[in-house]
Amino acid sequence: MTPEETSGIGTTSTAGPAAVLPVTAAVDVDVCEVGPRDGLQSLSGFVPTAAKLDWIVREAAAGVREIEVCSFVPPKVVPQFVDAADVVAGALDIPGLTVTALVPNAKGAERAVAAGVHRLSFTLSVSRSHSLANVRRTPDEQLAEFARITAFLATVPAEHRPLVSGGLSTVFGCATEGPVDEAEVVRLAVGLAEAGADDISLADTTGHANPAQVRRVVTAVSRAVGDRLTALHLHDTRGLGLANVLAGLDAGIRSFDASLGGLGGCPFAPGAHGNITTEDLVFMLESMGLRTGIDLGRLLDARRALEAALPGAPFAGHLHKAGLPKGFRPASGGRS
Ligand code: ZN
Repeated sequence: MTPEETSGIGTTSTAGPAAVLPVTAAVDVDVCEVGPRDGLQSLSGFVPTAAKLDWIVREAAAGVREIEVCSFVPPKVVPQFVDAADVVAGALDIPGLTVTALVPNAKGAERAVAAGVHRLSFTLSVSRSHSLANVRRTPDEQLAEFARITAFLATVPAEHRPLVSGGLSTVFGCATEGPVDEAEVVRLAVGLAEAGADDISLADTTGHANPAQVRRVVTAVSRAVGDRLTALHLHDTRGLGLANVLAGLDAGIRSFDASLGGLGGCPFAPGAHGNITTEDLVFMLESMGLRTGIDLGRLLDARRALEAALPGAPFAGHLHKAGLPKGFRPASGGRS
């Protein structure tokens, strides 16, 4: 989300660049579904394009307004995304949906722009060893690649130019390196901002974060880049995902990535399975009186359909087991 869109609780998103679609309802917190990218990249079997689009359509119908639908990595590296352009084309047919795609490099950015995405999500790992494993570049080489992307975007006509998010990964710890230097996180966030990121997000790729750390790092990065820092991407690897969301909310974050059914992980970060679960996140926010614009009943229907489509996939979460509590009143209204 752009800074203008997340200027505070209770505000309505404003129309920004042409890529941002009209907003139909006020929300307090944006929930971005990343399962079709983060959830599927770790699955071994190819999920048919129609099944991916069915998932995306169901979540959009539940009120999810932004979905990271795929990754423009080389298909040789992750064959799951060989159909990235087709998935984007299908998702672009859904009215009101902001279609985001992950891009690891300039080549991926060119493919994503050609496909017509609304937002590019670039990823830069703070951990040197994770960065080398993930994109075969050091963090500073990856920062230089980001500058190549923003230079390329400057050549794209404004009406076709997507927004570009700079995402720092392994911000709170790394599966191979352990603790990550917070000063390095701030330095690279400033680098992304100076290179032209519209907004910045911080990712707990391997589930290392704790709430005190989230509050501290978000505050430090916000101090350095201001309201350019808008989003958190959290994993629930060790059960602290929603506690970390709460810490992020306290520190002023109003946009969170999540994955339906808690699917997710990173093939280059052993043990890093499990994004925070979209339906559990929405339940927590709505319970707290924070509007997401998402209908929980429909979201649970989407989860059931996804479980049927992906038998054997590592699903997680709690709400689907217990159901909504008696007398539950979602902040966003709806049938729940
Ligand atoms: Zn992730």
